[in-house]
Amino acid sequence: MNIILNGASGSGKGSMAKFLVRDFGLAHISTGNIFRENIEKETELGKIVKSYVAAGEWVPDDITIKVILDRVKQEDCKNGIILDGFPRTLKQAEEFAKVMDIDLVVYINISDETAVTRLGNRYMCTKCNAIHSAKWDDITKCKVCGAELYQREDDKAETIKTRLHNFNLNNQSIIDFYKEQGNLFEIKDKVDNSPEDTYNIVKEYINKK
Ligand code: AMP
Repeated sequence: MNIILNGASGSGKGSMAKFLVRDFGLAHISTGNIFRENIEKETELGKIVKSYVAAGEWVPDDITIKVILDRVKQEDCKNGIILDGFPRTLKQAEEFAKVMDIDLVVYINISDETAVTRLGNRYMCTKCNAIHSAKWDDITKCKVCGAELYQREDDKAETIKTRLHNFNLNNQSIIDFYKEQGNLFEIKDKVDNSPEDTYNIVKEYINKK
């Protein structure tokens, strides 16, 4: 089973991916995590994408598509994948459709206000990337591995604005693309829904499918 998680930054794609990995054994592929790891390790890719990520701008399609096409060739993707943060442009969606079938696209639809609130509350683990919310979790240490937590640089107000602007600019065409293919499942999420509540809606849908 190949799943795409679509939604604005802060919609809960990363948290949803963790639940899907736990229950369905799929490989979690987050383009944001791949870019951040490369920036941290100062690889060639990291040097190229650093300024885009820092500014909340989308990394150019040719680079992003190459990264994803290389990643899905790896062994752990044989049983299926969860794409988290890809595609973010129609071009990415179209190119990816040429190489892999998608069974389900989950669109977590949140308001910009909810996105801003959630991102302001978001803390990431310095070691395992687990996502925490000051609303739902203890944020003194990682609930998965006990390491320290941090707030992402691009979760600051100005950069959030740019990311949401880019998302709103691109996403309708992506949604229309998958709607036409008949594999879109949309959830209208609210700020007070816990990640588990939202996940249970998706899980029920997958189990019925
Ligand atoms: P994320 O962790 O998904 O919020 O992504 C963090 C940042 O990585 C984004 O703000 C973009 O700069 C970049 N990025 C991640 N995925 C993509 C993508 N599919 N296309 C272009 N840029 C991306």
